Amino acid sequence: MQASERINGVLYLVATPIGNLGDISFRAVEILRSVDLIAAEDTRHSRPLLDRYGIDRPLFALHEHNEQQASDRLIDRLKGGQRIALISDAGTPLINDPGFPLVTRARAAGIIVTPVPGACALVAALSASGLATARFAFEGFAPRTGAARRRWFESLVADERTLVFYEASHRIRDCIADIATVFPVDRRVVVARELTKLHESFLCGAAAEMPALMERATENRRGEFVVVIEGAKPEPAETGPSPEALRVLKLLLEECSVKSAAGLAARITGVRREDLYRLALELKRAGSDGG
Ligand code: SAM
Repeated sequence: MQASERINGVLYLVATPIGNLGDISFRAVEILRSVDLIAAEDTRHSRPLLDRYGIDRPLFALHEHNEQQASDRLIDRLKGGQRIALISDAGTPLINDPGFPLVTRARAAGIIVTPVPGACALVAALSASGLATARFAFEGFAPRTGAARRRWFESLVADERTLVFYEASHRIRDCIADIATVFPVDRRVVVARELTKLHESFLCGAAAEMPALMERATENRRGEFVVVIEGAKPEPAETGPSPEALRVLKLLLEECSVKSAAGLAARITGVRREDLYRLALELKRAGSDGG
C-alpha cells in the first residue's frame, strides 16, 4: 500500500459486464472482494453479479438522483482512508452512467482515482462493426425527438470519423429512418444489438436500405442497441496543379530557368511555389530525356 493510499484511500472505477456475466476481469473481482464499500448505481441490479463472484462488501447507492449528496459522503469516506469501488448497472462507470461529480471531486481532493477496465458497449460494437476504428466519435445517446435527432445527424454527416452512439429500443426504428433521410444513400450503418448476450446480432447495410432491413428483423424491436455509422469520405486530395497552372509553367519554362519559371508561375496562378518547382524539374527532365 502506498503512503498516499493510507492517508486518503482510493476510488476504483470498476467495469462490470454488459450482458454476459463472464465478462469481468480477475482484478475487478479481487478489488470488489476487498474494498471497504461498493458504490453501485442500483444495488438490487448488481446483486446477482456480486453473488456470482462471492462478493460480499457493503453497498452504497449512487445514482443520477442522489449523485451530489452521495458523492459528498463518499468523498468524506475516501478522505478517511477507505478504499471504494464504483460500479454501474453495466459496463464502464461514467460512460453514460453516474460518477462524474464523484471523480472530479475525488481528483480535486487529491484522492487516487484508478480505472479497472473491462466491458463497454460502444467499444464492443465498434470493434466488431467492420467499420473504421482508427478515429471515431462517441456521441452518447441520440436526441429523443425526431426533429432534434435529424438536426444532430446533419451536424455530424460531414464528420470523417466513425460515429458511435446509444439508442433506446423504442426509438431505434425512427432513428434508423432518420439516418436514411439525412446520410448519403451508400453510407454504411451497423446496428449492434444485445452485445455479449444470447441474442446478440449485427445488422449491417447501406443507410438507404437499413429501414427495410430493420423492418424485416422483427427481433430488433427489443433489446439494447449501439449504432455505428461510417464516417464521411475524405475530400479528394489535390492531385496537382490545374491545367491552367501547367500551361503557364510550360510557357515560362521556354523562356526562363526552372527557378524563375516556378516563381513567376506561382505568382500568376496562386499555386504553391514548391509544387511548381518540383513539376518544372520533372518537365525539364522529361524534355531532355525525350531529346
Ligand atoms: N456504461 C455502459 C457502457 O460502458 O457501455 C453504458 C450505459 S448506458 C446507460 C446504457 C446503453 O448502453 C444502452 O441503452 C445501450 O444503448 C448500450 N448498451 C449497454 N449494454 C449493451 C449491450 N449488451 N448491447 C448493446 N448495447 C448496450
